[in-house]
Parts: sequence; C-alpha cells; structure tokens
Amino acid sequence: MIKPLGIQKKLNIDDLIIDESQFSGEEDIPLDVVFVGAGPAGLSGAIKLAQLSKKENLNLEIGVLEKASELGGHSLSGAVINPKAFLELFNEKKIEDFPFKNKITKEKVLFLTKNNSFRLPTPPTMHNKGNYTASLCEIVKFLGKEAENLGINIFTGFPAKNLLLNGNKITGVRTTPSGLNRDSSKGPQHTASVNIKAKITVLCEGSRGPLAQSYIQKESLTGRSQQIYALGVKELWQVPKNLDHIVHTLAWPLDSSDFGGSWIYPMGENKVSIGLVIGLDYKKHSVDVHTKLQHLKQHPVFKKILKDGKILEWGAKTIPEGGWDALPTKLYGDNILIAGDAAGFVNVPALKGIHYSMYSGIFAAQSAFEALKKEDCSKNQLSSYQEMINNSFIKKDLTSVKEIRPSFKKGFIIGGIKAGLLSLKLNALVFKNPPVKEDAEEVKSSDSDPETLPVNPDINILSKVDGVYLSGNKTRDDIPCHLNSEKDIDKKTAEFYAALCPAGVYEWQDNKLVINSPNCIDCKATDVLGPRWEAREGGSGPNYKEM
Ligand SMILES: Cc1cc2nc3c(=O)[nH]c(=O)nc-3n(C[C@H](O)[C@H](O)[C@H](O)COP(=O)(O)OP(=O)(O)OC[C@H]3O[C@@H](n4cnc5c(N)ncnc54)[C@H](O)[C@@H]3O)c2cc1C
Ligand code: SF4
Repeated sequence: MIKPLGIQKKLNIDDLIIDESQFSGEEDIPLDVVFVGAGPAGLSGAIKLAQLSKKENLNLEIGVLEKASELGGHSLSGAVINPKAFLELFNEKKIEDFPFKNKITKEKVLFLTKNNSFRLPTPPTMHNKGNYTASLCEIVKFLGKEAENLGINIFTGFPAKNLLLNGNKITGVRTTPSGLNRDSSKGPQHTASVNIKAKITVLCEGSRGPLAQSYIQKESLTGRSQQIYALGVKELWQVPKNLDHIVHTLAWPLDSSDFGGSWIYPMGENKVSIGLVIGLDYKKHSVDVHTKLQHLKQHPVFKKILKDGKILEWGAKTIPEGGWDALPTKLYGDNILIAGDAAGFVNVPALKGIHYSMYSGIFAAQSAFEALKKEDCSKNQLSSYQEMINNSFIKKDLTSVKEIRPSFKKGFIIGGIKAGLLSLKLNALVFKNPPVKEDAEEVKSSDSDPETLPVNPDINILSKVDGVYLSGNKTRDDIPCHLNSEKDIDKKTAEFYAALCPAGVYEWQDNKLVINSPNCIDCKATDVLGPRWEAREGGSGPNYKEM
C-alpha cells in the first residue's frame, strides 16, 4: 500500500510567500494590477480592467505574467467552449470573430467495454448544442492580441515564483531567475529575479498553482472539501475525414473504481482532439493515463476515426475537480484575488472551465477597478469579488452539480446511480456527501504490474519520450531540478511516480529514483501526489501550438 501524503514534502509556504523588505535595494517594476498567468482567467481579467479604465479615463498600468515563452505555449484543454464569456467581454464582436473551430450540432455519449460500445442518453449536464470546439492555445493567442491592443503589458517567459508580503498585504510577485546551472550557480546567461510590485495581485495560475495553494493555506481558506484533481492526456491528430460530432465515453479502459472518461472532438478541417481524463484518487499505484490513452486509440470507436491519420501534438494537464465545496472560503485578501482554475471554477459534470474562468477574471477586474478608484485595496473592499461570484450563474451552476463528483468516490456504479438521480433533480433521494479529502490521502494498492503499451497496434502509439518531443518541450538539459521529492524513495513509490507522470520524468535506476526534470511539461500531477513542482526558468516546458 502507498499513502502518497506520507511521502510527499509539505508545501513550503515560508519559501513561497516572502517579506518584500529582503529586496529593498533592488529595482522593481511598478504596476497597478498584475495578473499571474495568461490563461483565459488572467487575460479576460486584464482586458476587462483595461476596458473599464478606458471608459472611465483612469490611467492604469496592467501587467500579465506568463511562464511560457509564447502566449498559449502552456495552454491545453479539450475543448468544447460555451461562448457566453466571449460575447460578454467583446460585446461589439460576433461569433465569427472568435477563433472557434466547429459548432456542435451532434453529440454522443458512449459506454465502452474493451471491444464494444453502447450509446447512452446524454446527461443534461453534458448537452453541448450551440457550443464550439476550439484550441485553447489559439484562444489565448487571440485574447493576448486583444489585450496588447488595449495597452496591457504582457510579460511572456516571466514565471512568478514568490508572493511578496508587507505586513498582511500582498505587494506583488518575484520572478524565477534564469540561466542557472544544474547546481544553481550562475551560468553565462544568468538573469536575476525581478520584483513586480502591484496594488492588486490576481492569481490566475491555473490548476494546482503553488502561489494560490500557499496563500490559501497561509490564510486557512480551505473550503468544506479539499481540492481534488484529475489528469488529462491529449493528442491532436490529422485524420483523413472530417468528424461531424463530438463523442464522450465512460468506463473502459478505466477500472470500475476510478472516475474519468474520454473525448474525441472535431478541430476544424481534418483534425481531431482526443483525450483521456482520470481522477487522481484512483486506486492502483500502476494507473498510467498516457498508456491507457494509447490503448483507447485501438478501440473500434476511435480506430475508425484515427485510421491512416497522423499525430500532430501531444500534451497533458491537471484539472481541479472539487467543485463548489472545494473553493477557498474567501477568494480575496488584502491586495489579492484568486480567479479561474487557481480557485477551482470547474464544472466537472459539464466538462467546462473556460467560460467560468473568464467570468471569474472579469468579476475580479470589476472588483479591482472599484478598489483602485476608491484607493482602498483592502480585503473588505475586494470582498465585492466574492459577492459578484455568489450572485452570478457561476454559483448557480456549480452548486447545482456539487454532489455529483463526490458521489463517484464510492466507484462507478454507485456514483452513476447517484449522478443519475441528481441529474433528474431527485436530490432528496441522495444523501449529502461527507467532505472530500485531498487525493494524496487516498491509499493506493501496490500489487499490480506496471501498465504497458499495446503490442502490434493498429493505430499509431506514442511512448512518453515521443510525447514529450511532440509537446514541443525544449527545456535546457542543465537546468536546476524544479521537482522536490523526499529522499530514500522505494521501488514501489518510484513505480507509482513513473506511471503517474505522463512525461516519463521518473525512473527507477540503480536502486534509486532518477528525476529527468527537463522532460516535465508542467501538468502538475506529481505536485498533487508526489514530488512538488516549482516555477522554473521562463520558457521551459512545453510549447503547445494547437492544444
Ligand atoms: C484535459 C482538459 C480538458 C478540458 N476540457 C475542457 C473543455 O472541453 N471545456 C472547457 O470549458 N474547459 C475544459 N477544461 C478546463 C479549462 O481548460 C480550464 O478550466 C481553463 O483553462 C482554466 O483557465 P485559467 O486561466 O484559470 O488557467 P489556465 O488555462 O491553466 O492558464 C493558466 C496560465 O498561467 C500560467 N502560469 C501558471 N503558473 C504561473 C506562474 N507562476 N507564473 C506565470 N505564469 C504562470 C500557465 O502557464 C497558463 O498559461 C479542460 C481542462 C483540461 C486539462
Ligand atoms: S513531473 Fe512534470 S510532467 Fe511529470 S507529472 Fe509532475 S508536473 Fe507532470
């Protein structure tokens, strides 16, 4: 048995949130508001803030920090998008102006066994007619252009490593230095850390952001439930024929005790996105989402679509799945707000996060704007952000499905029955679930063999190394290790990390755990269950183009 929490380092809050007085002699970059993370939340927030400042003639310096070297380089999603946040943010634009791919007119939900599939009625939460498929990389690039046109400063290749503190106030962030040698000594290309000071810092780091995690822990803001996560592995394919509908699947190749499913979506002309997502509360130490995806591609449902096709890109990322009960009790503090996946605004039964993230960024911007106008960025003033969330469709949507994901903690059958009753609004027949524990507290059995890739596959498969190559990862080989593992890891735990990591970062060699950190693609799965992740030199990691 393995209990991940027992072998995981604690989050080092004192290293992540540091007193700004230590850097008093250094030059700072001063801003009014800094958004940490150029995803849908950070960019939508920055755009809304710039729109408001233009409308009311309040000159504001707005910055967005992004760890990828290019906008969208670390962005990965399914994605089927509800377009409502786009229409809200750009009310002068039409649907055709956004970089969407296919309008959804037909959808299927399938129950899979190893060789067969059975069509199920589409659950009400999964209806997607009127939504659009899209590449999140392209969406982020589009939002970035709009932001630049509004005069927003976008700093790509700028990872925030620490939150800066003055008394109770968050005063900005400090970036990761670059050009360090493996032993952390300064190399020829060394660039020092920079302090980005701001009256308000908006954390939009996405899933499992260490800054949001540490602020939530420091201020004891954990919700009724602890946050839980899933890992999604995705491939983009060129295929001979256009797909005219979206497909979601349940069951095989997952064990019946595990939660998750797969998708295949059309992505414009002769391209499809295919992916598999599994909750990180899975039961066996050998579960390997990447390898399971390679098996899934051989299933008749997928084989038919992928035959004679070509893999264009590969990547992986975690998703916060805890829902409404796992949101921090306060989404604000003195001079700080938390938005998007960093807070946990994902509707798992609907498989949606993008429009919730965008709206949370928009509400954060509205709250920040009022605070700046009143020259009061205290937590009392910024609590208006929480009120806006609570009065919006975000609360309505997320509370209406909040019991569904926890119901699957008892396996697929019980979860499926409870989810069915909840979807039919028969809530009185379903007991309220107890608070959910973090994934690392769930014990994994360790008596199964490592999963292996399909032998003689009909459809092209990828090894993890091939996958990392197709993610565009060009991290320097001699970069310091950014993954913090406990010492003396045993063979079973090393096997568990090796299976969990989609990028082949962990190996058991010469009776010890070897960490190939440059392979890391920042999915954050081991931050949830194993070695902690920290922000490394800007521009490291994947360089996704159309994920
Ligand atoms: C496999 C998968 C499938 C999904 N499918 C769908 C779907 O079909 N429909 C849907 O609506 N949603 C879907 N989602 C969820 C959706 O993608 C997210 O909810 C959404 O992207 C969250 O937006 P965000 O801006 O909060 O975070 P992100 O999109 O994760 O953006 C965060 C950004 O911050 C950057 N960053 C992180 N840390 C730092 C730092 N320290 N310094 C600087 N920059 C930093 C990251 O590089 C990234 O660019 C899916 C997610 C996954 C993983
Ligand atoms: S090492 Fe990197 S790529 Fe591997 S699971 Fe952890 S965060 Fe993901």
